[in-house]
Amino acid sequence: MPPRRRYCTSRTNRPGRPAGAAGCGDGCRIDPGGRRGRDRRPPAARRPDRGGDLGRERDPDLPLAGGLWEKFDPAVYASIETFRRDPAKYWSLRGEFIRNLDAYRPNPGHLALAELEAAGLLRHLITQNIDGLHHKAGSRSVTELHGTLREIFCLACRRRYLAPRIPPGTPPRCDCGGVLKPNTVLFGEALPPGALERALREAASCGCLLVVGTSAQVQPAASLPAIAREHGAKVIEVNLERSAAAADLFLEGPAGAVLPRLAARVLALAGRNPAPR
Ligand SMILES: [Zn+2]
Repeated sequence: MPPRRRYCTSRTNRPGRPAGAAGCGDGCRIDPGGRRGRDRRPPAARRPDRGGDLGRERDPDLPLAGGLWEKFDPAVYASIETFRRDPAKYWSLRGEFIRNLDAYRPNPGHLALAELEAAGLLRHLITQNIDGLHHKAGSRSVTELHGTLREIFCLACRRRYLAPRIPPGTPPRCDCGGVLKPNTVLFGEALPPGALERALREAASCGCLLVVGTSAQVQPAASLPAIAREHGAKVIEVNLERSAAAADLFLEGPAGAVLPRLAARVLALAGRNPAPR
């Protein structure tokens, strides 16, 4: 089903404006190369308006907090076109983080979601994050819409490496000489096979959708709250400020502080004993 709200995105990582706002036409889309055009495909076939390898959007709790793409235009540095032309440019920005991936730990927000899943109270988790911290926290049923930095693969022979155990160099190269690329979604790339379909299915069949730490402006994930609501679900948002998710209930604050309290309350209501903290 078509999303009710569509956004035009600028090239400088600023929040998108509603389609139809001054300067863009209804359905206007600016792709990474700066070419304007209408995207008439159904939402499930669209590429994300903003590339996936963007790190976190709002919540400062996690190590991929926004700073990187505020300094460097992601449409330039995080596009597959640029990567193929000059992979060293991408690796010079992302390499250090990827090589230190083991050092980053999940925060109490990640752990709370994993705890809810373990108690049978959270069915599935859909994330735009690429840091793998939900898996690290113990979440099992996870759709990583924008892929993961954990997996690195060779563009020539497709051999897979697991970060941070990757060859040295900028860019790092496979034994065969091919350039290595993280298994994340860059501007100009499609989402991982099946990821969007799974996310749409889960949103359309859940009883409650929890929206956490997002601007709800990155398509296609931004459509999920509306899809859940259209199928009768309640939407709860945990965020520093209200987003475009139009939630039924808004809980203000960073995910790392709010989610543990929310999880404890839900576990208590369900008659489960939350693990001692
Ligand atoms: Zn190779």
